[in-house]
Amino acid sequence: MTDTRPSHADAVQEADVLVIGGGLHGSSSAFHLARRGASVIVLEADYVARHSSGVNAGGVRTLGRPLPEIPLALMSREIWHALPETIGDDGGFVASGQLKIAETDAELDECRAHVALLEAHGFTHEKLIDRDTVRELEPALARHVTGGIWVERDGYALPFRTTTAFRLAAQRHGARFHEGTPVARIEQRGTRWYAHTPRGMFAAEKLLVAAGAWSGELARQAGEPVPVHPEGLMLMVTQRVAPFCKATLGATGRPLSFKQFDNGTVVIGGKLIGIADLPGRHGEVDFMRLVKSARTVVDLFPHLRHLGINRAWAGVEAFTDDSLPVISASRTASNLYYSFGYCGSGFQLGPGCGRLVSELMLDGAPSLALDAFAIDRFDRFDRTPSTVATPAALAH
Ligand SMILES: Cc1cc2nc3c(=O)[nH]c(=O)nc-3n(C[C@H](O)[C@H](O)[C@H](O)COP(=O)(O)OP(=O)(O)OC[C@H]3O[C@@H](n4cnc5c(N)ncnc54)[C@H](O)[C@@H]3O)c2cc1C
Repeated sequence: MTDTRPSHADAVQEADVLVIGGGLHGSSSAFHLARRGASVIVLEADYVARHSSGVNAGGVRTLGRPLPEIPLALMSREIWHALPETIGDDGGFVASGQLKIAETDAELDECRAHVALLEAHGFTHEKLIDRDTVRELEPALARHVTGGIWVERDGYALPFRTTTAFRLAAQRHGARFHEGTPVARIEQRGTRWYAHTPRGMFAAEKLLVAAGAWSGELARQAGEPVPVHPEGLMLMVTQRVAPFCKATLGATGRPLSFKQFDNGTVVIGGKLIGIADLPGRHGEVDFMRLVKSARTVVDLFPHLRHLGINRAWAGVEAFTDDSLPVISASRTASNLYYSFGYCGSGFQLGPGCGRLVSELMLDGAPSLALDAFAIDRFDRFDRTPSTVATPAALAH
């Protein structure tokens, strides 16, 4: 019989599942796996929630999702509403509602067409609202706003708190987290996966790559390269100001993500691209691009004209060529799985995708179809349209 153990077998730490990456997706997957009885080790290069999952805008948004993501986002939203019962912490989730505003009649027509398209696919969570209803919801908005789309059960949460809460809940179910433990290389020997790190070797039957913007290198090692690239997404937070806005806001004609927290500060973003330094493991702010976003905010809320910015930062996020994540079993190796490439919108999906990944890894089939997110879809990109799951799939 062939001995498949590495030479220094005594240094190997074993589990049923290795998870690479302690972001929200790695932590949520670890939680759902451990809750079902799997022994789990999470390997995190820096510290849990150091990257996108801890520094994002906290938007819990089903609004404006690409069609294939909608069933996942709706399923995930139900977990957001039940977080205290699920992980013992609400992650700071506030069901503020999400409002996407139109600033011209043409933009309102665009919103109308979008809502009609969703309805044609059986999705009714986005509601078209007129100018007066927008004003009732947000009286401080500039008068030129013509209407918009409203999703009442969306909201926002605190990213670092949410990711930490999933980590703590996973630990309560026995998951072991190793921070400061970058995985340099993965390999399958016999039926086991091995992860090589400066802190020794880790082994398990199953391996999940949830390494955010760094996942591409690990997929390449497994022989299935993916068109994924990093971007440095930026945010800024203002000084405190008296309460004036309850909903989380986006815009139709220009990039915007905007919310006011209970403490009065306002967080402003909207897929603003700064600089991503993947080898250096950090993002950098491009202030000239932030200025454009600040102008949008002043157009919409003129009374903020003199409000100061306290802080700005950039987080490193993974983007794929078709703007959809990879949530998939490997097509080249057994017992290898992926969950990455969330393209600036993966915070909301974290609680739900962790559950689906655990089903994929433990049962072989998730309760919602993940075909649109298969890792080999890029081979057939432009030839096969993405699968659109319907609300009927949610009943599974
Ligand atoms: C500024 C900003 C604003 C955003 N706003 C929103 C929003 O409002 N709503 C929303 O839904 N989404 C938002 N997002 C996107 C969201 O934050 C991400 O999609 C999501 O957090 C991705 O989670 P993840 O676990 O896949 O990746 P990450 O959080 O990046 O976690 C991956 C982890 O893997 C670790 N890792 C990498 N390589 C290795 C290795 N070789 N060995 C061990 N560990 C490794 C990293 O250190 C990292 O901690 C935003 C993102 C940014 C940056």
